[in-house]
Amino acid sequence: MNSMLQMTKILKKEKTRSIQITPGYSCNNDCIFCVTRGQDGAKMMGDMTTQQIKDIIRRKSVDVNTNVGFDGGEPTVRHDIIEILKFIKERKARIKMLTNGIRCCDPDFASTLTDYVDHLYVTVYAHTPELYGYLTRRKQNFDKMVTGVKNLFKLSQKKNFSIDLKILVCKPTAPKLPEIVKFISEEFPRPRRLCIHGLTIAGNSEKNKDEVGIRLKEAAPSIKEAINLGLEMGQNVTLRYIPPCIFDDPFYYDFCEMDSTERSINMVKMSREYMKKPQESYGPQCGECRFHGRCVGLWPGYANEYGYDELTPIKTFQSEIFSSHNGSCCSSLCTG
Ligand code: SF4
Repeated sequence: MNSMLQMTKILKKEKTRSIQITPGYSCNNDCIFCVTRGQDGAKMMGDMTTQQIKDIIRRKSVDVNTNVGFDGGEPTVRHDIIEILKFIKERKARIKMLTNGIRCCDPDFASTLTDYVDHLYVTVYAHTPELYGYLTRRKQNFDKMVTGVKNLFKLSQKKNFSIDLKILVCKPTAPKLPEIVKFISEEFPRPRRLCIHGLTIAGNSEKNKDEVGIRLKEAAPSIKEAINLGLEMGQNVTLRYIPPCIFDDPFYYDFCEMDSTERSINMVKMSREYMKKPQESYGPQCGECRFHGRCVGLWPGYANEYGYDELTPIKTFQSEIFSSHNGSCCSSLCTG
């Protein structure tokens, strides 16, 4: 057989697939911006049974070439979460999980969980019990979250899994972003990435949009300050669902996450209301932009609420943008 053909077949066979599973909507918080409506959503939608999740794993032929992602709700509140992770690990798949870290305040639970996961994406929404309590409606969980995140970092030094921390940009957090970055940098070891995440408008964030919604352009000065402080404090800062064109300085383009090549099949029960939202991240003007086709654009829910008029196509060539970095940049955006 032609060696090129053989190579193509091997590459196809070894291609990694990603499956995103939302095992349910139950959660130990009740966030005012929760896209799945917090505790109301959990009551409305219910959780998948252990058997339903195992059936998905079997049906999707999860194996060594599969990344399985968990979100929710809060996956760690399930009584069967370890059983499910074990079931997946027997198939040698990689496991990623979005978690609020609260249950990991129990060191035994944190230790067992991290026997199975390869990557954790942990939300640290606030730097004080008051702000955390306002956002999550569970002020008592702030200390548990902090202890949980510390436990996870300790375990990550001995075990083979990585941690990203997630901050969300919403109206109450926007002016506090530098303080949140400072708190995280002083309280915890450095995560693999410190992700500053744009907010979508759906579920509770739609219901409470006057309280939580903020335009990205309005939040941009604080996001820039948070990036600057993060860099000073040795953080690897990444922006998600925050497109480069909201910044007036090309220096900040470099922190915007570009379109991931990883595509996932979502195994989730969604409400009809969520499903009917337009699924468009780009404005009509995006076609003229240098980043079109790579930029992740806006959350569709955000665009549905605020439209696309904040997006100003970037017409400068990358080489012109990065010449301002004095040749020192090294991101995936750099063509130099
Ligand atoms: S593609 Fe659109 S959203 Fe992305 S940077 Fe360009 S104008 Fe902004």
